[in-house]
Amino acid sequence: MIVHCKICGKPVEVKSPNVKYCDECRRKKYETTYRIKGEEEAIKYAYQKRIEQMRAKRNGPSIEEVVREANKEGLSYGQYVAKHGL
Ligand SMILES: [Zn+2]
Repeated sequence: MIVHCKICGKPVEVKSPNVKYCDECRRKKYETTYRIKGEEEAIKYAYQKRIEQMRAKRNGPSIEEVVREANKEGLSYGQYVAKHGL
């Protein structure tokens, strides 16, 4: 499907309707957010990168499985990944 980047308006082909920005704007946005919010956003960024990697490789536990397991233990995704060395 095609969405239009919310920042520059460029049409972007995406697999998920959750994607709102083109690659370039998304990267800039993350870089900016990273500088502002630090570690919390870095974890979210790592989470996004991991989703992309999982989609590319299609092996290992799915992101939904990891999130479900993390919830079972009452941990955030970042805490769960750190604890289990995923
Ligand atoms: Zn853009």
